Amino acid sequence: MHWSRVSLSTKLLVSYLFVIVVGAVTLIVAADAVAPSFLAAHEAQMAGGAGMRAMMARAGILAVAAELEDAFRAAMYQALYVATAAAALVALAASLFVSRQIARPLRRMAAATGRIAAGHYAERVAISKTNLGDELGQLAASFNSMADALEQTERRRLELIGDVAHELRTPIATLEGYLEGLLDGVVEPTTETWAQLHDEAGRLRRLVDDLQELSRAEAHQIPLSPRPVSPALIVDTAYDRLAPAFAEKGLDFHRTVDRDLPLVRTDSDRAVQVLTNLLTNALRYTSAPGQVELRAERLGDAVAIRVRDTGLGLTTEQCAQIFERFYRVDKSRSRALGGTGIGLTIARSLVDAMGGRIWAESPGPGQGSTFSFTLPRA
Ligand code: ADP
Repeated sequence: MHWSRVSLSTKLLVSYLFVIVVGAVTLIVAADAVAPSFLAAHEAQMAGGAGMRAMMARAGILAVAAELEDAFRAAMYQALYVATAAAALVALAASLFVSRQIARPLRRMAAATGRIAAGHYAERVAISKTNLGDELGQLAASFNSMADALEQTERRRLELIGDVAHELRTPIATLEGYLEGLLDGVVEPTTETWAQLHDEAGRLRRLVDDLQELSRAEAHQIPLSPRPVSPALIVDTAYDRLAPAFAEKGLDFHRTVDRDLPLVRTDSDRAVQVLTNLLTNALRYTSAPGQVELRAERLGDAVAIRVRDTGLGLTTEQCAQIFERFYRVDKSRSRALGGTGIGLTIARSLVDAMGGRIWAESPGPGQGSTFSFTLPRA
């Protein structure tokens, strides 16, 4: 069998046995080298002194000493064999114990990985008390956080599919209704009917375009080329683009750029896109006579661009929720006004990617609202 396929406990056992064998061999070699000289020294001491008596004593002792050395050596080897056997047994027990401590959690993790791969994203591994602070505990904890992330992604994916299906159903049902009416002769094929059909198709296209933009923004696939930009440039570009629409609706539209603002580090096209989105909403949800104020000002170390309107206003709860995908305070109203409920979600993704923050504030429904986003200074 290949070494890589050998189980963890066998590998540990082999490594322990190796240490024991090396230890025992070293002991034997060392004892063999040291014992004779040690014994010789003792013999010399025992037979110490001069004269006849000493000579005789010495001859007897030498004979005994030879026997003693053999006996000593035999006893030493026996003791070493017994000690090696005992150590091997302990090594076997220790390797089984340690490998179970390591192998069991690893085996559990391997099983959990298999179940996650099979689509069971709720799978987690339990971290036992003995592994809480060690590397295995850390591995299990990062495994669990990976499983959390996978589960969340999967949930978002399912939610998105559900939401998209739901959003597509309404315009498709409307188109279907018109077409059936036309087929049955209930609806007159007038220019107005064709115009309504065209509007509905436009709404569908906008929804699909927004969805594509949203998926790119959420996957951070929108290329950004940040460079130092003057906040006035962003404000002026968006202002010039939307001023005619505000005038047409009869709304007061002002802009103010505070003096001495620093340059911001941003992708100017994307910053203008975010601002255009906020202004389009202000235009959409403010009825004449009303005012919309666009302002760039300093906020801490960044520059804030704010859009304040005297329109519908929002509750505190709605202020937090409107950045969620497809969230609309009044679905039918937003849809009738051409909204898709995705604009602010895209805006938030873009602002996040540019290192800023976006939020909404409102004194309450019917009292207007202020949308702000920050851009970091260059
Ligand atoms: P929509 O395409 O529906 O406008 P958004 O994501 O841009 O989608 O906005 C989400 C919701 O936030 C809107 O449907 C609307 O209810 C609310 N909203 C956005 N801007 C304003 C605003 N200026 N005043 C009041 N409500 C707003």
